[in-house]
Formats: sequence, structure tokens, C-alpha cells
Amino acid sequence: MNKPIRKAAVIGSGIMGSGIAAHLANVGIPCLLLDVVPKEPSAEESAKGLTLEHPAVRNRLAAAAIAKLKKTNPAPLYDEAFADRITPGNLEDHLPQIAEVDWIIEVVVENLQVKKELLAKIESFWKPGTVVTSNTSGISINEMSADRGEAFRKSFMGTHFFNPPRYMKLLEIIPGRDTDPTLVNRMKAFCENVLGKGVVIAKDTPNFIANRIGTYGLLVTLQEMVEKGYSVEEVDAVTGPAMGRPKSATFRTLDLVGLDTFVHVADNVYGSVADGAEKAAFDTPAVLKDMVARGWLGEKSGQGFYRKVKGEGGKSEILSLDLASMEYRPQKKPSSGSLEAAKLAKGAREKTKALLTGGDRFSDLTWDILKKVLLYSAGKVGEIADSIEEIDNAMKWGFNWELGPFETWDAIGLVRSVERMEKEGETVPLWVKDWITQGNTSFYRVDNGIRFYVDEGKYKQVDQRPEVISLRSLKEQNRVVKGNGGASLIDLGDGVACLEFHSPNNAIGADILTMISQSVEEVRNNFEGMVVANQGRNFCVGANIMLLLMEAQDEEWDEVDGIIRLFQNTMYKLKRLEKPVVAAPHRMTLGGGVEACMPADQVIASAETYYGLVEVGVGLIPAGGGCKEFALRVSQNVSHPEADLQPFINQVFETIGMAKVSTSGHDAKRLGYLKPTDRVLANQDHLIYEAKQAVLRMAKAGYEPIREEKIRVVGSEGKAVMQLGAIGMRESGYISDHDLKIAKKLAHVLAGGDVPAGTLVTEQYMLDLEREAFLSLCGEPKTQQRMQHMLTKGKALRN
Ligand code: NAD
Repeated sequence: MNKPIRKAAVIGSGIMGSGIAAHLANVGIPCLLLDVVPKEPSAEESAKGLTLEHPAVRNRLAAAAIAKLKKTNPAPLYDEAFADRITPGNLEDHLPQIAEVDWIIEVVVENLQVKKELLAKIESFWKPGTVVTSNTSGISINEMSADRGEAFRKSFMGTHFFNPPRYMKLLEIIPGRDTDPTLVNRMKAFCENVLGKGVVIAKDTPNFIANRIGTYGLLVTLQEMVEKGYSVEEVDAVTGPAMGRPKSATFRTLDLVGLDTFVHVADNVYGSVADGAEKAAFDTPAVLKDMVARGWLGEKSGQGFYRKVKGEGGKSEILSLDLASMEYRPQKKPSSGSLEAAKLAKGAREKTKALLTGGDRFSDLTWDILKKVLLYSAGKVGEIADSIEEIDNAMKWGFNWELGPFETWDAIGLVRSVERMEKEGETVPLWVKDWITQGNTSFYRVDNGIRFYVDEGKYKQVDQRPEVISLRSLKEQNRVVKGNGGASLIDLGDGVACLEFHSPNNAIGADILTMISQSVEEVRNNFEGMVVANQGRNFCVGANIMLLLMEAQDEEWDEVDGIIRLFQNTMYKLKRLEKPVVAAPHRMTLGGGVEACMPADQVIASAETYYGLVEVGVGLIPAGGGCKEFALRVSQNVSHPEADLQPFINQVFETIGMAKVSTSGHDAKRLGYLKPTDRVLANQDHLIYEAKQAVLRMAKAGYEPIREEKIRVVGSEGKAVMQLGAIGMRESGYISDHDLKIAKKLAHVLAGGDVPAGTLVTEQYMLDLEREAFLSLCGEPKTQQRMQHMLTKGKALRN
């Protein structure tokens, strides 16, 4: 019987070990972080009189790694304070403590001998029931554990995290020959549910799934480039966003990974495969070997395929490597019909098709690379993974491709592309030809919202865990109750409906507001409660300020007033719905997006939620109830009629005044945007399910609607305190005159206007203050400039 995982030990505190320890700390699992004892004290330690006997010296590596976690960007920790959950130690003094943990993860250097020796030491303290895993990128799990006892091997497997562990969704689990299958299933569930990862089960083959296909893809791209004479920037123009892949494309990726590391990873396959053609594909091209020999390793050595230099006037410029001369030169931005068409096309499917059908040399490059990667992937089904779905997921989650290889193949037309491949003399795997001969035209099929994929010559249903609700699939099953261009109400079943935003960037405009009102009516009459969630890239980037700016520029003040009133009234209706409402935001949730969550009974946010009232950035203050809700919370939390509200309202003033955005869901709690009763989930795919369960729990417990409440405010005295703070910031040059003007209005609203301290005011009174301040700011030319800048440049302007 294996124990639940409550404590862990991570051995190796390098890039990955410290990142994994941070992620365990993120989800509340305390962990021991061990590394080797340094050979001698550093000069600094000696100067302090510390010897090699001192714990500060002996634990130096792990302790330094923990300290570094707090400074790393992007942050590996959801909240800096979580670093306290990691205890540093060393392998000589603290290894016996691994007997006390439930999961031991080996994350030391990628060297079979080192890993084998470490596993032997681990086994001597290991207790049955504790799972042991290795984070190797490609060493065989069976080889690594070959000398260990049978009981140990049953509890041992690979857990391959991708870098950085907090942010990369993919986790490959690699069972060994003897690993207990029940334990594999338990670890899969744990890594999905608790760590929030996307898990694929890989076979114990060199570099597992994502790095096997990914490395192959990078190598064929390099070979095509060298053979056909494309430039670095031409290849990147094709292999990045033009085909639904990250901006880092091929060469930025290689520069980031480090060319030496990449060669090491490729060599691992080269040394382990027998097939001649495959071996040849993994033989790294001469140019790469040459660059490694010159020490041009990419970003870490200052130059690789790209080099950043200071150009004229101190402006930095990125040069690219000319492979013919091995010299760096200014980049030449490639342009062509196919690249242009791909840019305009929407989504990876259409983009890839546009690239391929353009009929120019970029179309040829796309086809030549894709063809090889698709054929290679098809040839590896059964060898590196059991299914095409696992391969597709690994590439999407591990390399951030929008489409996996088999999805790409379907997108470009399976039958047509196989004909072309055969005409060009390629060998197409037999199973693919048989599949087509059976009359099939794609690897995947969607039937009434249910997805199937080809598995051993038959369509098999994609395993849909109940925790993962797909709105797209519900829509395909005709579960839309109501909808317009900006939002829809979808029946989640069991009496719960989901209000989904789907406007461009999920910005809130009139259509979304109309749908919120209609949904409130619909849920009031026909449902138990409502979830507010969507599965767009971001939950909501705020209210759509385009119309607002136009009306303000035309000085149509009644129209502006109408827009704000509509927003306020709609949020008010949502709050007053007599049924439970749970909002489930993810990623960017800004301005009006936050205000759309505030009326809910509970917020269940993704850990990756960047949440903030950022209106100040466009020269405004929150006027959709954001200020009012915050003032209400302060009044509720400081409930004793004599207690001092000022320190709490000051904090709100600072948060909104500085347009603070959380770096995680947990950070949103720290900033006070989320309430202590709100929840944060590591797995974003589970948000809608958990929100639905929360609605059902509230409904079952006998839901009590949120009642109208008076708000105790700090009044004129408190307003003066806040304004004084802002004036101080202006005088010391931190903020501009216009910032000060906005801050004064914000202070006026949060204080409840010019009333005596402790006055009780209504919610509507606070909304009126918000609206007046907002309207007056709309008339300010500098506010209009800020709005204009945001709309055209997508960034805040400081003026
Ligand atoms: P790293 O070099 O940053 O860290 C390796 C750690 O191992 C260091 O802290 C070092 O002190 C320790 N170490 C060295 N020799 C040791 C020994 N004899 N006994 C015990 N500890 C020893 O490396 P990393 O990038 O964190 O990689 C660690 C593991 O994770 C490797 O197996 C690597 O292949 C794998 N991995 C790395 C990445 C990545 O992107 N860096 C991604 C996935 C997996």
C-alpha cells in the first residue's frame, strides 16, 4: 500500500531540482532539497570564519538555490513566502531523512553512473511505500535501476518535468519494466490533480516522447536549411507563429536551450538507435559542432544563431549568423506571399495550410520539414508511446505547439499529403496506409462533441476525465442555452449553467453585458446556479474601451454615462441573483474582468491568474463596482464600529492606485483581490468542474442570497490621508501630475466622498461616486491619450 504524497525530497538543487521543489512548495507540499557538500568553504565563508564543518557551508548549494528562486523571473514560486516550505540540506548529513518522505525525486546531473550510484544510496534509506522517481531527460529508467532490489524497482519510474516546472504543462511519466502499474496510475492522477500538469505516459526509449520528436524536428530543419541555403531568420519566419508555434521558433529555441545541451540530447539518441537512417538524422550537422567548438553556445555565452549588440545610439540590435561566412550580420526580414497569407490566417490549421499552398520557397521549406516530422512521428507510434494522442499532447504541452503532428497532418489533408509523400519517394508507415485504405480520411474524428483517435486500426474515444469539462465539446453537443457574438450561456448539466465570454480578447462590451443580464434571468428561472468561466487564452482583458474613447472624444457625455450605468447595473444584477454564482478566472483577468468576478459568491481561480484592477493605466478608476466592492470588503472585515478602517483602505488605495497585477492566484489573495474563502487551483483544466461542484454544494446547502449592506467609510478625513500619500509620491517624482489627479479622484471614491468618518453609505451611493469620477476623468485629454495608446500599442502610457 502506498502512502498519499504529503512530503517530498528533491535531490539535486540545480535548475530543474530547485524548480521542481518550488512547484511542490507551490501546491503546499513541504520538501527537503539536498545537494552535494562543497569541496571547501568559499572565500566569503572563510572570511566569516566558517569551516567545512559548518552547516551554512555544507548546505550552501541547496540554500543558495532556494534564495535564487525568489529572484528568478518568471517566478518559479506562486508566492515568495512559499520558499519557507523548502528545507535545504546535503547528501552527507541529511540523506537518512528521506526515510520520512512520501516521494523522492532524483534531479542530479544527466550521467548514468552518477544517477546509479545515487539510487543505490537512496535505496539504503528508502522505505517501501515511498515512490522514487528520476527527472532524467533521456537516460533509460530500466538501466538506471538495474542493480536495485525488486521492491525498489516496483516503486521507481521516470517523472520528466519540462523547464520551467511551474509553467510548462508537460510531465512525462516513464514506467520501468517492473514499475507497479497501480503506482503509475496513482502518480499520474497526483501529477494532474495536485501539481496541475498534463501527463503523458512514455515508453523507456531514448529522450522519451517530446524531446525525441522535438530534437528530430530541429535537426531536420537545420539540415534543410544547410542543404537548400535558407537563412536563420527565414527558417524562423516559417517555424514560429506562422505555423502556430512559439515565437522562439527554431533558432531562438536552440539559443535558449544551449547548443551544447542540444548536441548532448541529440547524441543520446544517436548513440542508442540502431537504424541507419535514424542514426544519420541524429548525427548533428557540422555547423552545430563547429559552433559548440567555438563556444558559441547561445544565450548563456552571449551568442549563438543570434547575437545581441549595442548599435548606434546605444540601442540594442539582434544580429543573425550567416552560416556561409560564419559572421554575424543585420537581420533581413523575409517576406513572401505564403508568409503574408499565414500571418492573416486564423489558427494553426489555417496558417499551416496558407504556408503550404503559397507556392513559393517558404512553402517548399514548410512542406519539407513537416513531411519528415509527420512521417517520423507516425513511425514512432507504439515505440515511444502507445497512442497518437500521447504524441500530440507531448508536443503541444512540451513545445507549446498549437497542434501536435497528427493534428497537423489532419489539418493539411491526410490523404492528399500521403499521396504527395509517396510520389516524392517517401516510405509511409504501413499502419497509416492501411488506415487510408480502410476509407478513413483523418486520424481524429469528432462525433457529437466526442473526440476519437485512431488506435490500432480503429477509432478509440479520447479518454475524457470528468474533471476536464470542455466548453467547445458541449457547444458541439448543442448545449448552448442562449448566445450572442460576445458570450454564451452553456448548460453544464446537473442544473448548472456556464456563462462564457468569447469576444475578441474576451473584452467586455455591450454584447457581453446583454448576455450577463439574460443569463441572470435564465438561471433565476431554470437553473440551480451559474459558473462564469471561459477557455479562451485569457479570462478577460477588461472592458472594451474603444466605444468609450470614441464617445469621450465626441464629448457625448450622456452616452459615456449610459455605458458606465449599464456596466454597473449589470454587475449589480449578477450580484443580486438569488442563486449561487462562482467565477473561475484564469490567466489575464484585468479591469472589468475582475469586476465581473467580484459579484460572485466565490472565485475559484487558476494558479496562473494575473489579476488586477488596472484602470489607472488608461487614466481611469474602476467604475463597474470595483471600488465599491473593495470598500464593502474593508467595511465587512473591520466590522467593529469603532475599529480603524484607515490602514485597510490605504492598502486598497495603493493596490488600485498602482494598478497592481498579481503574479499568481495566490498572489491575488495576498493583494486582497481574492478573499480568504476563494480557492486557487493548480490545474486550469479543472476550473469549470470545480466551480460547478461549488455551485452545487451551495445550492444543496440552501443558498442564501447576498444581501444589500451598508458600507462604513473613512470619509473626508480618510480621503485627506490617502491624498497626502499621493502628493508625497508626486513630490518625490514617483508619479506624474496626471497620476496625482487620478489618485485624488480614487481617494475620493474609496473614502466615500466628503462625509464624516464612520458614515454608513449605500452601495448605490458608492456606485454614483465611481461613475462621477470616471466621467470626469474621461474628459481629460491625458486620459484619452492613455486610452488611445492602449488601443493602438497594447501598453500603458505614463503621461
Ligand atoms: P544542473 O546542472 O542545473 O543541476 C545538477 C545538480 O546536480 C547540481 O545541483 C549539482 O550540484 C548536482 N550534482 C552534480 N553531481 C552530483 C553528484 N555526483 N551527486 C549528487 N548531485 C550531484 O542540471 P539540471 O538542468 O537541473 O538537470 C538535472 C536533471 O534534470 C538532469 O538529469 C537533466 O537531464 C534533467 N532535465 C533538465 C532539463 C533542463 O531544461 N535543464 C529539463 C528536463 C530534465
